Amino acid sequence: MPAVSDSALEGEKPDVLIIGGGISGASIARELSRWNINILLVEKEPDLAMQASGRNDGEVHPGIDLSKGSLKHYYIRKGNAMYGDVCKELGVDFRRVGQYVCFNEGWAKPLISLYVKKKKYIDKIEDSEVISGKELLRREPNFSGGFKFAISNPSTGCVCPYGLTIAYAENAVTNGAKVMLNTAVTGMKVENGRITEVTTNRGTVYPKIVINAAGVFSEEIARMANDRFFSIHPRRGTNSITDKKAGVYMHSVASIKELARSTGHTKGGGILHTVHGNLLIGPDAVETSEKEDFATYPESIEKVFTRQKKTMPALSERDIITYFTGVRAPTFEEDFIIEKGRKTENIIHVAGIQSPGLTTAPAVAKDVEKMAVEMLGGAQKNPSFNPVRKPIPQIRNMSDEERAKMIEKNPDYGEIVCRCEEISKGEIIDALNSPICVPTVDGVKKRVRPGMGRCQGGFCSPLVTKIIAEFLKSPLSEVRKSRDGSVITYGATKGRNSDE
Ligand SMILES: Cc1cc2nc3c(=O)[nH]c(=O)nc-3n(C[C@H](O)[C@H](O)[C@H](O)COP(=O)(O)OP(=O)(O)OC[C@H]3O[C@@H](n4cnc5c(N)ncnc54)[C@H](O)[C@@H]3O)c2cc1C
Repeated sequence: MPAVSDSALEGEKPDVLIIGGGISGASIARELSRWNINILLVEKEPDLAMQASGRNDGEVHPGIDLSKGSLKHYYIRKGNAMYGDVCKELGVDFRRVGQYVCFNEGWAKPLISLYVKKKKYIDKIEDSEVISGKELLRREPNFSGGFKFAISNPSTGCVCPYGLTIAYAENAVTNGAKVMLNTAVTGMKVENGRITEVTTNRGTVYPKIVINAAGVFSEEIARMANDRFFSIHPRRGTNSITDKKAGVYMHSVASIKELARSTGHTKGGGILHTVHGNLLIGPDAVETSEKEDFATYPESIEKVFTRQKKTMPALSERDIITYFTGVRAPTFEEDFIIEKGRKTENIIHVAGIQSPGLTTAPAVAKDVEKMAVEMLGGAQKNPSFNPVRKPIPQIRNMSDEERAKMIEKNPDYGEIVCRCEEISKGEIIDALNSPICVPTVDGVKKRVRPGMGRCQGGFCSPLVTKIIAEFLKSPLSEVRKSRDGSVITYGATKGRNSDE
């Protein structure tokens, strides 16, 4: 629960109330902002993408493990195909890097080739093909030489998942939606099968319709709406992130499939070259009873790392710079729930959105947009809708001439604050001036990356803290790492001023 309690939203009457600021809620808000309707998105955390949407691999999956019949399968190819255009419009880096599922057992090649034919022609995962071990090594020379063959899916991509969530939400806001962080839905009044009131820690709101995109808590929201027909059983996944110097070892997404050791859920993890040039090793899949169990256990890292070294022996634990854990939100049926309420009329559930929920989000958002507009009885188009979001310039990716021009216009772009990631003061100030300002060290880190490199903020955090304090015109001691209570400095020492 957020610490704040006020009446900032008291009496608001949005057409659509979206609960949850992950990729599901943010993408739906953006698609709905194409219409002339009043949209309110509430997120209980102090920033967007604080739960699954900020704690995942960022893989835009091909769907090779999905079969016809599920909603996951229905949305995966549509979502995957939309990524190029969506990321271009929203100014988010996206690359189709390709995926390899690698096999050591040569005897299985005829069987796997049949499986791939089924995937390609029946399940319509059309980019699937089998390639030889030799071809795999030609494409990824640092992989183990022992692989006999691999399933290749060139449509696989990688994207920054929190970057995309923030971009979707920012574009929604510039098109008229309202996003309220630190705002938790705590209860609802349901009368004659309709939600009439929604209580939050910032006041009571009176929405026409509610969209439940609350991730692992979507069952609690369904219960509040008197419409709970599913339950979520949370599943943890842990990833290690390596230094960018390990990123040169490979450029795709890869995993090893050991037929003799296969378990139900895929999860011995894999290796993924991120859009920023690091490697991600993981995730595993461990059932947990705790929905916000973001702890990282050494055994998770060790298990996945040991396994992935078989794919690429060059991997070294010494290259790990940090790690994180995310919690998936599966239902017992292991499929998405994207439907109108069964007992309550004016709610749409976007629940059970476990993997590949990042991949499917653009396509799911389009369908939920249609459902919501229909539920409202139609709406006028938003005449000033602009699908394009201008991204913050990335000095590190510019040529010397481009940098010089930027610095001439604004010398802050010439002051490098984060040396690992080459982030300038100008970019940090841009992040603070962005449409959804989150003036914390983590808020800035998520938007422009200071602190994401090898030193993990050891050198730049004090400087970032100072820039935030100057922006807020407040003492250093008031800047927070991420949320209320995450104090960075307590006050002045040795007789100095508190902002020195
Ligand atoms: C380790 C891991 C790896 C993954 N890898 C991939 C991948 O590579 N590719 C892929 O496609 N998918 C992947 N996924 C799945 C993907 O991350 C999720 O499907 C997706 O992020 C779900 O988004 P969401 O918005 O539905 O949920 P979330 O991101 O969890 O958002 C729900 C939000 O609702 C908020 N909320 C909850 N209750 C309330 C309340 N009462 N009031 C207000 N707000 C509330 C939460 O704080 C949260 O921010 C992975 C997941 C994990 C955990």
